[in-house]
Amino acid sequence: MADPARHVLQTIFGYEDFRPLQGEVIDRLMAGGDALVILPTGGGKSLCYQIPSIARDGVGVVVSPLIALMGDQVAALRQAGVRAAYLNSTLDPAEAQGVEAELVAGELDLLYIAPERLNSPRTLALLERAPLALFAIDEAHCVSQWGHDFRPDYIQLAVLKERFPGVPTVALTATADEPTRREIADRLGLREAQWFIGGFDRPNIRYRIDQADGRPRERLLRFIQSEHPGEAGIVYCLSRKRVDEVAAWLAERGVTALPYHAGLSGEEREMNQRRFVNEEGVVVVATIAFGMGIDKPDVRFVAHLNLPKSIEAYYQETGRAGRDGLPADAWMLYGLQDVITLRQMVDSSEAEEARKRVERQKLEAMLGLCELTTCRRQALLGYFGDELAEPCGNCDTCLQPPETWDATVAAQKALSCVHRTGQRFGVGYLTDVLLGKTNERMERLGHHRVSTFGIGTELNATQWRGVYRQLIARGLLAVDAEGHGGLRLTEASRPVLRGETALHLRRETKPAKPAGDKRQT
Ligand code: ADP
Ligand code: ZN
Repeated sequence: MADPARHVLQTIFGYEDFRPLQGEVIDRLMAGGDALVILPTGGGKSLCYQIPSIARDGVGVVVSPLIALMGDQVAALRQAGVRAAYLNSTLDPAEAQGVEAELVAGELDLLYIAPERLNSPRTLALLERAPLALFAIDEAHCVSQWGHDFRPDYIQLAVLKERFPGVPTVALTATADEPTRREIADRLGLREAQWFIGGFDRPNIRYRIDQADGRPRERLLRFIQSEHPGEAGIVYCLSRKRVDEVAAWLAERGVTALPYHAGLSGEEREMNQRRFVNEEGVVVVATIAFGMGIDKPDVRFVAHLNLPKSIEAYYQETGRAGRDGLPADAWMLYGLQDVITLRQMVDSSEAEEARKRVERQKLEAMLGLCELTTCRRQALLGYFGDELAEPCGNCDTCLQPPETWDATVAAQKALSCVHRTGQRFGVGYLTDVLLGKTNERMERLGHHRVSTFGIGTELNATQWRGVYRQLIARGLLAVDAEGHGGLRLTEASRPVLRGETALHLRRETKPAKPAGDKRQT
């Protein structure tokens, strides 16, 4: 056979043809060049480096943060007759020595290695004595300091291109927007790399985003019971405490729900992960720490009870649903408090100003996606530079186009109320002023006498919250980093206040139960 890569594809992996981009990436590496590969989850990234590692002389060194999966991957490769091994902290010294000897003797096709291990002077010295086919850096977005999975060990991987400039290197990830792609290429010294960017669309995933007003836990339970009874799913929450609480609450109501977060013991985490993968119908309630590298094709839904902090995080987390190509749901509830919490997390972090600016932009883009009144998939794909010509017909805004209303006057009232009360109060207080609900504090501060007192009775408290949330989402109000979510005006709010621009907001869907019914909250 003329083409050694295709020969390996067919004889070792048993596949007839390459998936889109696989062949191109492999050609590039076979020819000794570097590559940056962005392919969605399930797109077949592994073969992109496995095949050239086998077909080229020497060993392909694969850097991966997913230590838990290395053993399985290597076992599967060995079964196919590939000389594969791994080096990480789970090996005892004698085992590690054995692998190192094979490496130097040129007896391996593939070596999986954890980043901290690779960065050690000892390993680097060994690699210098070994015949090398290529380096593959998997989950390469972990090198991005501004990304959501940053790992300090990844930064040091720049050493590979410095010490081994002649060895072809490929960086792979499922998600990276344009700035992150540049950051990956930059930090790993892959300035000459050719970029291979695959289609991002996951047409079988139905995207749905709604406000969290009106008891999110109950709505989640109803969603699971009515649409995915007995099916596997992941529920993401922002805090460990919330994870424990939601998992226990669902379990009490008959859902096989297990918690997963960094505060659990290693054993417990591993056990819950195994049950999720091996049993049917397990729902894992997790912080974002869960899911990377887990290959479970039949996850039928991913639910978010909090706003992710970027579109990349949202895409990656929802991408864990429906890898088998069958219909799956990405279902999310988010609320005003998420926006405030995330804004404050960014503002009060120790990071440099430039980084905070990027994080704020990412959060704004995520909020924009939530408040959208047009097709969500078009916006999502557009964010990654992937175009979808027509609205998708498989997201909530396509299936039930949201109504909008002329909120110009309401926005003016909401913004002036912020102005009149001195730009330091939160939504609850501002809403009380608008509704003319006075209290001791308000009287002490004299706010029952400001001109916006009681001018907002045409909307109820929930509706005002919605107005404020959307104003924040559109950057017409800023949330203070310190204190309790005090709001202040921005440059963008002036034209609205002066009546120079009209503003159309999304009409909020009604809370599931009447606002007065608060028994279970
Ligand atoms: P990724 O790492 O991009 O999420 P994987 O490398 O795990 O994806 O591949 C996903 C699945 O697709 C695997 O089960 C793999 O065996 C299969 N696969 C990859 N390439 C091909 C191909 N050319 N033909 C058929 N199946 C493939
Ligand atoms: Zn759509």
